[in-house]
Amino acid sequence: MTITIIGIGLIGGSLAIALKENGFATYVIGVDARQENLDKAIRRRLIDEDADLNTGLQRADLIVLAVPVDAMRELLPEILDRIRDDQILIDVGSTKEALLTSIADHPNRSRLVATHPMAGTEYSGPEAAIPQLFTNKMCVIVDHDDSAEDALATVRRLYKSIPMKLSYLNRKQHDLHCAYVSHISHVASFALAITVLEKEKNEQRIFDLASSGFSSTVRLAKSSADMWTPIFRQNRDNVLDVLDEHIEQLSKFRSLLIKNDFDGFQERIERANEITRILGD
Ligand code: NAP
Repeated sequence: MTITIIGIGLIGGSLAIALKENGFATYVIGVDARQENLDKAIRRRLIDEDADLNTGLQRADLIVLAVPVDAMRELLPEILDRIRDDQILIDVGSTKEALLTSIADHPNRSRLVATHPMAGTEYSGPEAAIPQLFTNKMCVIVDHDDSAEDALATVRRLYKSIPMKLSYLNRKQHDLHCAYVSHISHVASFALAITVLEKEKNEQRIFDLASSGFSSTVRLAKSSADMWTPIFRQNRDNVLDVLDEHIEQLSKFRSLLIKNDFDGFQERIERANEITRILGD
């Protein structure tokens, strides 16, 4: 199968590696906003060939849209306008409600299978693409009833081949749960990084004293602003809701400290420890 990947960064590039390695893709064409990215992708053998959008669309059996979610909103209707009945389109965007609502009535909606492979790192671009990024992780298929059966069957086979587990949500549920679990973690990490940068002006001290605790908590703060700002724009209301709860929780810790209430502190930490029951050690 010839696969065209639009946006050959972390997700697009890692998919290219996985699908070429397991033979699902016999030929991969890359399309990207920047020639520099395509040159890197060719040097790293992520793609067999680079092309412009027109050529990439014409020659693909399956198209993967893997650009930031604001660029997705611009590109998706244009691709659906041109897609043929024998082609399948996948998007891998991290937010779904605005995107899928905007094309809900498109006559070719059923050629799209909306997916969110829940895998990533804090790095971006073609140099960040890695094999096995997706192995044994969860892929959410969103609004699957709106996709044609043949398209859905192929996309299920694609994700199972890399191999991912599948789950199904509608677009509203998807954005809500991603705000609660994924998007708030990024806001918290960005805020923590800025907090430390504001308070500790001695950068060498940050480097010297950053134990694995600080490094792992602040890891997400290395994530790309170009990728994340559009996610917060599109999932604003859900992120605001969970951010209010987070600020409330921070305030509770603050008032316990002010009151010298370390029994209360102990209780809050033990409540937080309950996350181990769900995620394991
Ligand atoms: P990325 O590494 O930055 O890759 C995106 C690529 O798309 C870059 O090469 C970018 O080029 C290019 N691009 C930007 N606008 C474009 C346009 N209009 N046309 C063609 N190419 C364009 O980002 P990513 O992490 O792979 O994310 C891609 C998508 O996957 C996003 O929708 C994101 O929400 C979703 N996703 C991300 C993760 C994650 O953890 N990273 C996980 C699951 C899903 P420039 O950067 O040079 O502009």
